[in-house]
Amino acid sequence: MGKKIRGFFRSFVFRLVILLIAIGIIPSAILFTILLRTYQSRSVDLKTIEILNQAKILANTISTEEYLQNPKNPGIDSQLTLLSKIYDGRVIVVNQACRVVKDTYDMDRYKTIISQEVMRSFRGEEVTNYDAENRYIELTVPVAGMADGADEPGVSGVLMVSVSTDTDALNYSYLERTGIMILLTTLMVLVLLSVIIAIEMAAPFKRLSGAIHDFHAGMENEVLSVKGHTEVQELTERINSMTASMKVLNDSRQEFVSNVSHELKTPLTSMKVLADSLNGQESVPIELYQEFMADITVEIDRENKIISDLLSLVRMDKAAADLSVTSVNINDLVEIILKRCKPIADKQGVELVFESFRPVTAEIDEVKMSLAISNLVENAIKYNRTEGGYVHVSLNADYQFFYVTVEDNGIGIPEESQDHIFERFYRADKSHSREIGGTGLGLAITRSAILMHRGAIKLHSVEGEGTTFTIRVPLNYIES
Ligand code: ADP
Repeated sequence: MGKKIRGFFRSFVFRLVILLIAIGIIPSAILFTILLRTYQSRSVDLKTIEILNQAKILANTISTEEYLQNPKNPGIDSQLTLLSKIYDGRVIVVNQACRVVKDTYDMDRYKTIISQEVMRSFRGEEVTNYDAENRYIELTVPVAGMADGADEPGVSGVLMVSVSTDTDALNYSYLERTGIMILLTTLMVLVLLSVIIAIEMAAPFKRLSGAIHDFHAGMENEVLSVKGHTEVQELTERINSMTASMKVLNDSRQEFVSNVSHELKTPLTSMKVLADSLNGQESVPIELYQEFMADITVEIDRENKIISDLLSLVRMDKAAADLSVTSVNINDLVEIILKRCKPIADKQGVELVFESFRPVTAEIDEVKMSLAISNLVENAIKYNRTEGGYVHVSLNADYQFFYVTVEDNGIGIPEESQDHIFERFYRADKSHSREIGGTGLGLAITRSAILMHRGAIKLHSVEGEGTTFTIRVPLNYIES
C-alpha cells in the first residue's frame, strides 16, 4: 500500500499535474498581488493629490478673504463644510497662534494645535501623510498672509484636512475577494485540465508498457506497435530492434547447441556401427578387427578434436580480461607454428614458406594467438591441391600493427560461403570438408582470438585458385 502511494507521488502523471498547476497558478497569484498593491497605493496617491488641490484652493480663498482675522464668513464656512462632507473628513483651520479658528467637527475649536506637520506648514511646506494602519490621509497646507509684526507676506495660518480612506478600503477588499474567487476558479479549472493533459500525455507510455507486458507474456509474437508522440515511437523502435537482436542471438544459441549435439553424436554413431558390426559376426578375422579398430581410433580422435575445439571456443567467449598478455617475439612464434605444421605439409606435398619483413615484438596472449595462426596455416595445408601446392606465410609490421598473411593456391572458397566461414560449424563444401576432416570451429576460434586482441581478420579467395587470410593485430595491447 505504502509502495503504491509512493509510486503515485513519483508517477509522471502526478509530477506533470503539479508542474502544470504551479506554472499556471504561481504567476497569476503574483500578478494579482502586484496589481492589488499598485491599485491601493495609486488610489491613495490620486486622492491625496485631489484633496491637496482642493485644500490649496481653499487656503488661497481663506487668505484673500482674510478669514483668519474674521472667521465669521458663511461663504468660506460652507466651503469648508462642503469639503469635509465630500471626502467624509475633517477640516481644521488654525491661525498664527496655532489656535483652532474652525473645526468642521466642532470638537477642538479654540484649542491650540502644535504638531510637527503644522509647524512645517508654518514654514511654508505642504505636508501630506498616509496612515495605512488607521486608513486616513492627513495633509496640512499653509495659508498665505501677513504674519503679525512681520514686514513681508508669509504664512498666517494652516489648513488641516484629514480624510478617511475607508470607502477605498471597502473597494479594495471587494477587489481582493473577487480576485481570490477568480484565482480559486482558475485553480480548479487548472487542476482539471492538467489531470486531463497529464493522463493524455502518459497514455502512450502506459500503452507501451502494456504492449511490452503482452509481448513478454507471449500474447504478441510480432513487433511492438504503439501510437504516440515521437519519443514513444523511438522507444518502441529501439525495443523492437533490441528484441530482434535478442531473437537472433537466441536462435544462434539454439542452432549452436543443436550443431554441437549433432557433431558430437556423429563420431559416436560411427563407432557404434563399427562395434556393432564386429559384435554381430561370429568369427571375425583379425585383419577386420584391426581395420575396424583403426577406424574407431580415427573417430575417437575426431571426437577429441571437436571437444578440444569447443573448449577453446568457450574460453575465447569469456571476457577479454582472461587474456594473459605478454611481450612476444612474433617471428619466433610463427616459426614454431610452421615447424609444427611442416610434417603435415610434407605429407600433403605442400610447400611451406615463411617470409619475414622485419623483427616484430607485440603484446599478445601467446597461446590464443598461436592457436589463431595455427588454424589458418593448418587450413591452408588441408584445403590445398594435390600437386604443386604451396602455403606462403608472411609477417610485417608498421608503427601500430603487425600483419600476418597466410596465402595458399588451394581449392579456394566459393563466394557464397565467404560470408559464413567464420561461423561456428560452418564448412564450405560439406562432402569435401568431411573427407578432409575438421570441426568447422577453427575459423570461429581464430576470429574470436583476433577480436580479443582488438585486431581484424580479412579474407580474399577465388574458388579453384587459392585463398589469402590477413590478420592485423595492434602491437600494444589496448585495454577496453
Ligand atoms: P574446418 O574444421 O572445417 O577446417 P574452419 O572453421 O577452420 O573449419 O573452416 C571453415 C571452412 O572454411 C572449412 O570447412 C573450409 O570449407 C573453408 N576453408 C577454411 N580455410 C580454407 C582455405 N585456406 N582454403 C579453402 N577453404 C577453406
